[in-house]
Amino acid sequence: MKTETKIVSVGRHPEKHFGAVNPPVFRASTITRQTLAEWSDVRTRIFDDVVYGRFGTPTSMAFEEAVAALEGADRAVAVSSGKAACAAAILSVVKGGDHMLVTDSVYQPVRKFANDFLAPFGVETTYYDPTIGANIADLIRDNTSLIWLEAPGSQTMEMQDIPSITAIARERGIKTGIDNTWATPLLFKPLDFGVDLSVNAATKYLVGHSDAMLGVVSMRAELFESVKIAANNTGNCPGSEEVYLGLRGLRTMGLRLKQHEQNALKAARWLEGRPEVNRVLYPALPDDPGHAIWKRDFKGSSGLFSTVLEPASETQLAAFIDGLRHFGLGASWGGFESLVLPFDPTSYRTATKWEAAGPCLRFHIGLENIDDLIGDMEAGFHRMQAVA
Ligand SMILES: *Cc1c(COP(=O)(O)O)cnc(C)c1O
Repeated sequence: MKTETKIVSVGRHPEKHFGAVNPPVFRASTITRQTLAEWSDVRTRIFDDVVYGRFGTPTSMAFEEAVAALEGADRAVAVSSGKAACAAAILSVVKGGDHMLVTDSVYQPVRKFANDFLAPFGVETTYYDPTIGANIADLIRDNTSLIWLEAPGSQTMEMQDIPSITAIARERGIKTGIDNTWATPLLFKPLDFGVDLSVNAATKYLVGHSDAMLGVVSMRAELFESVKIAANNTGNCPGSEEVYLGLRGLRTMGLRLKQHEQNALKAARWLEGRPEVNRVLYPALPDDPGHAIWKRDFKGSSGLFSTVLEPASETQLAAFIDGLRHFGLGASWGGFESLVLPFDPTSYRTATKWEAAGPCLRFHIGLENIDDLIGDMEAGFHRMQAVA
């Protein structure tokens, strides 16, 4: 089956639901059985049958089946948010006394999880240069149990040499996990590159409409139970409406991503030509330092990239952002709409030194007409010049 066909058909099973095209929203906590024998039997298969709302419903199982199929994984585990998916994946591997290697470009709330939550339980984290490649070997200790990747990195957008890192991890019996949110299961398939656990913040492109929180972890069959147990032990399960919205959203994700990519490429190229812009950080651009790796491993690019501006004052930055008509100022991304967000890597980086000419802005390029978006940014730069 080709990708477009797969997206439309995976995880639906109309024959189980009176022919309805979409699986219904199952709202369930209690699931009753008729006899003691049935009850006893089903208690031995709590993660593979419908037994209790927290373990899964036919709606969450349909979503998991669809995501696993798109990722090229055997199984997937749906949870309450993208951060919860990162936490479940990590907790399925690390235990007290372990050491974990985490990319310095990691999504910041995962850094908080490692530093504020895991450290007091005796898990030590070392952050590494995202471009380290095979030199990751030098950082591995006897008690290293997990290497965490993210490509491109949050905000700073570095690509990682994923197969080099996973090859070393495999040799040493170390598990690897990746945050695949930027690429989605359509543009990068981590398991094909040796990654053990692939996480998606479904809140972003899978849901795709900025109206639900949802996360999912994909894996080979033998790792399913450890992730499911980690999620269950922390009471971590998706809401019934949310998981339905994820299932509904992913049907159009292929189409949406093509438009996000086309618009983002135009916006990024236009920004590259602006005198106010020092650098555009987007691996789909030929002169991005991560371009060769991106081209080798990824099938396309999504709508999120960053820019480093030339030196500009806070007033100038506000002049640019405050008057924008089509770019919302807010966290998260992956919905149909455009967003802008200032960020400062010097405030959180520990393994690498961030040196940039001026302030940084992250853009999510939505599905609006690209000429409107470019016109909006151009007016922003004019406001910026006016207050210089
Ligand atoms: C947003 C995001 C998350 C977290 O997702 P939530 O659903 O907001 O918890 C994780 N990783 C990346 C890369 C993200 O951008």
